[in-house]
Amino acid sequence: QATPSRNTQDWQAADSRHFLHPFTDFQGLARKGARIITRAENIYLWDSEGHKILDAMSGLWCVNVGYGQQSLIDAAAAQMKELPFYNAFFQTATTPAIELAEVLAEISPPQFQHVFFTSSGSEGNDTIVRMVRRYWDVLGQPERQVIIGRKNGYHGSTMAGASLGGMSGMHAQGGLPIPNITHIDQPHWFEHGAGLRGETAGLTPEAFGLKAAGWLEAKILELGADKVAAFIGEPVQGAGGVIVPPASYWPEIQRICDKYGILLVSDEVICGFGRTGQWFGCETMGTKPDLMTFAKGVSSGYIPLGGVMVGDRVARVLIEQGGEFNHGFTYSGHPTACAVALANIRLLRELDVVRHVREDVGPYLAQRFAELNDHPLVGETQSCGMMASVQLVKDKTTATPFDEALEVGMVCRGHCFGNGLIMRAVGDRMIVAPPLVMTRAQVDEMMGLIRRCLDLTL
Ligand code: PLP
Repeated sequence: QATPSRNTQDWQAADSRHFLHPFTDFQGLARKGARIITRAENIYLWDSEGHKILDAMSGLWCVNVGYGQQSLIDAAAAQMKELPFYNAFFQTATTPAIELAEVLAEISPPQFQHVFFTSSGSEGNDTIVRMVRRYWDVLGQPERQVIIGRKNGYHGSTMAGASLGGMSGMHAQGGLPIPNITHIDQPHWFEHGAGLRGETAGLTPEAFGLKAAGWLEAKILELGADKVAAFIGEPVQGAGGVIVPPASYWPEIQRICDKYGILLVSDEVICGFGRTGQWFGCETMGTKPDLMTFAKGVSSGYIPLGGVMVGDRVARVLIEQGGEFNHGFTYSGHPTACAVALANIRLLRELDVVRHVREDVGPYLAQRFAELNDHPLVGETQSCGMMASVQLVKDKTTATPFDEALEVGMVCRGHCFGNGLIMRAVGDRMIVAPPLVMTRAQVDEMMGLIRRCLDLTL
């Protein structure tokens, strides 16, 4: 429903006069006018013109429990009434932050007994950079500075987050990456010509996974192992296009990190809190990271919250030998945010959402996405839990990509927008990450819309 006092054009005009949107061509948006989202329920949004839209992106990969969950709303209201804010600086704490730390330790893999709170994933990854380097400093190895990420990885938009990420467009602005961060290629079998090109020619996905992990070892040897502090990666690359690595990749990465004593950081900002069918993506991929970044799904996006789960190896050193860690934010452990996260995790547990993703709706989504392979525009489909992607190709028999990858994605996204579906385009890859509470019938509804939009893009 439109807000009665102002019409859509009015909102759009005010928007373009004053609001600089993230990751947006400001002039382009001003010409088109923003779509004004006014309310939401379950997996659906409504805009100011009254259109109903199926939100197949969970907002921005975060509304894991869907919209309108009363227990989260009540938790925020109750906490705001009791104690809306107090900080965790200067030897104080609030009860929701303590309780959330306890619950996070309970649901995380056993090596994680400590948490450092932030308000976002980017701040979490800034924390990672400082914590990792502090760890090696305290251990008397300050020369271990370099953190290795991956091309096309996404770790946020702050100076450190965008540097850890490997998005070339982001590195083109603002003097990034910051020093002592470098990148290896991503484990994307299809991009590497479905094994047809260069050094990956003819490899099976499994062999390619080992080869791609080997790029980490090559980089470590090139830099010198005694210079490398950590490797960071998303279990499944999200913003890069829902790129699911072959099963052989992550165990081999773990082996290499162990071999050289390098810290392994799992960025769980998207994969955490059930999206891959386990509480955390590292459990799905079979790694035992030293640190995990989280955000988004911890509070289902109802309120900003993020943080770093700190594994025993790092926690012991920082706690027992580190002295004061000169890092933190006003909102580290914000009581209202923590109260909402507690209600969110309680609900995920009550509804058994992680099992629902792993055993029911996740496999069903995979099956329905695989059916898209018969479409003339589709070169490959991938999925993991409740995230999936479609690679659009110009010629599916030869896996030839479009010359203007960005353009075809935008055309397809435009059809989605026009047909009541939010699906994201990453170049010529169309991706979804719907709320985890989605039902099979809603998967069917979404798939009908996706096929219609692919047909319109032809
Ligand atoms: N890490 C990953 C894997 C992400 O996908 C994102 C955001 O999409 C971030 C970090 C940054 O999180 P935020 O936007 O909350 O700063």
